Formats: sequence, structure tokens, C-alpha cells
Amino acid sequence: AKKQGKNRFYWFEPSMENELRFRNELEAGIRRGIVNGEFRPYYEQQIDLETGRIVGFEMLARWESPEMGLVGPDIFIPIAEDIAVIGEMSEKLIAQAFQDALAWDASLTLSVNISPVQMRDPWFAQKLLKLLVQHNFPANRLVIEITESCLLENVGMVRSMITSLRNQGVHISLDDFGTGYSSLAQLRSLPFDNLKIDRAFIAELKNEENGAKLVDAILSMSDGLKLPVTAEGIENEIILETLKRMGKMKGQGYHYGRPEPAADVLRRLEEQDLL
Ligand code: C2E
Ligand code: CA
Ligand code: CA
Ligand code: CA
Repeated sequence: AKKQGKNRFYWFEPSMENELRFRNELEAGIRRGIVNGEFRPYYEQQIDLETGRIVGFEMLARWESPEMGLVGPDIFIPIAEDIAVIGEMSEKLIAQAFQDALAWDASLTLSVNISPVQMRDPWFAQKLLKLLVQHNFPANRLVIEITESCLLENVGMVRSMITSLRNQGVHISLDDFGTGYSSLAQLRSLPFDNLKIDRAFIAELKNEENGAKLVDAILSMSDGLKLPVTAEGIENEIILETLKRMGKMKGQGYHYGRPEPAADVLRRLEEQDLL
């Protein structure tokens, strides 16, 4: 205990209370950050492994917090979902990303991650289509990445949502493929355009034999579903070469570059004649 003022004592807060306070501050910081535009789109290159050319970018959100510095999405996305500001945050990020991506070569796609919480909003598709129109961004350059966890709750609603987006030209990619529990039958009944192999599986390629077997199994599933794949988390040349031997696909990862702000993307594209 610490002495405080006139004979009053207080105990250091037990950790539960500290945690609660920290959480409350984070929540308030996130709300403020949305208003102040502190959430910024960063971009990770997506590459055609065969040609080595950039084919698009995945937008990955970052929080440029005045108090904490650069904060990653694994910290703030779950909280933004909890306090029901994910939709607002995401719309602002996507609007910014549309503006950024309009400066790129028109052959390049923009992929954005959509939270399962957003997929529960019956107006999600309409909101996204409205944003496309507002920013004059071509629907066929947009890819939305959704995870299998979206499908746990309401497959029917997700199916009609992605169908109406696809009818407008938007592409749908199944993110974190292999980590969920959906059946092949269920996946086949949904109109996806692409599968993203989670980086947990790609990392397994370091463990020679068994890693390759696992990725092979995933590739034959994607073959069965007749869907192209993107491998995420390509960290080095060895993994890259292994993947190239396994088939035709797109890929991304630290081997090519870390997620970077829009200005760095422009510099990169200028070098490669992709502006
Ligand atoms: P994800 O969609 O599976 O994205 C891949 C994550 O792996 C990213 O982490 C990326 O920076 C990281 N990564 C890429 N290449 C490599 C590599 O070679 N090695 C390793 N170790 N990691 C690599 P990040 O940016 O921290 O994002 C984490 C997750 O947060 C994303 O996982 C995505 O689910 C979510 N997220 C990011 N931005 C948004 C957003 O705007 N909205 C929503 N709903 N979720 C987002
Ligand atoms: Ca993703
Ligand atoms: Ca993820
Ligand atoms: Ca992943």
C-alpha cells in the first residue's frame, strides 16, 4: 500500500482492474482514431510466381496511434469488432484504398479483408457497391477476402451477398484456406474466385517432406474445386522455389516485401513501370 494524502491508503490495483482500464483506454483510443483518421491502409504485393510480376496488392490495416506508435490489426480488429465500429473503420480504410489504388496501373487488383462481423450486416454488399460508385473504382479490380468463419453462421446470407457482389464484377477470395472447418461440399456450393493458403501451411514447407505433403493436399483440394490459389507467407527463396515446382499460383510474403504505405507502393510501381 502507498500512503496518499491524509491517512488515506490505496492498494495497487489488482491486475484485473489494470486490464480493464487498459482495455477501456484502447476502446476509447480506437473510437478517437477512427474520427482522426489514424487507421491507415498499408499494402502487401501479390505476385504471379511464374513471371515474378506484381499483379495486385492486399490492403492490411495499421493504426498509427499517437500514444502507441504503429499498431497491428491483430490488436485492434477484434476490439473494433467487439465495440461494433469495424464497419465504419473498414469503410474508411477501403475508401482510402480506392483512392490510392486508382493511381496504380489498371491491371492491378486491390484485395481487402472483410470481417465476419461485417458479413452479418445485411446491407454490407450495398454499402460496398456504393463505395465503389462513389470513388469510381472498377468493381473488377476489387477482391474481397473472407474467411471460412463467415460460413459458420449463415451460409445462405453469405451466398446471396457474395453472389450479388460477383454479379457486379467483384472477386471473392477465401482467406486462411485450410484453417477452417467447412466441408468441401459447402465450399463447392459457394461462388469463390480464389483460395488463399494460410501462411501456417506455407511455413511448414521448411520442414521438408511433411510440409510439402500438406501443401500438396491443399493444392489437390483447390484443384478439385477448380479454383486458383494464392500462397501467403512466402518468406524466402527456398519456399518460393518449392512452391513454383508444385504448380501455377500467385503468392505474397516477406520475400517480396513487407506491407508498406501508399507512398512506398507508388515508388515501387514507378520502378516497375506499373503506374
Ligand atoms: P491475413 O489476411 O491472413 O494477412 C496475412 C498476415 O500475414 C498479415 O499480417 C501480413 O503482414 C502477414 N505476412 C505477410 N507475409 C508474411 C511472411 O512472409 N511472414 C510472416 N510471418 N507474416 C507475413 P497483419 O498485417 O498483421 O494482419 C493480420 C490479420 O489482420 C490479417 O491476416 C487479417 O485477417 C487482419 N486484417 C488486416 N487488415 C484488416 C482489415 O482492414 N479488416 C479486417 N477485417 N481484417 C484485417
Ligand atoms: Ca487476407
Ligand atoms: Ca486472417
Ligand atoms: Ca492468413
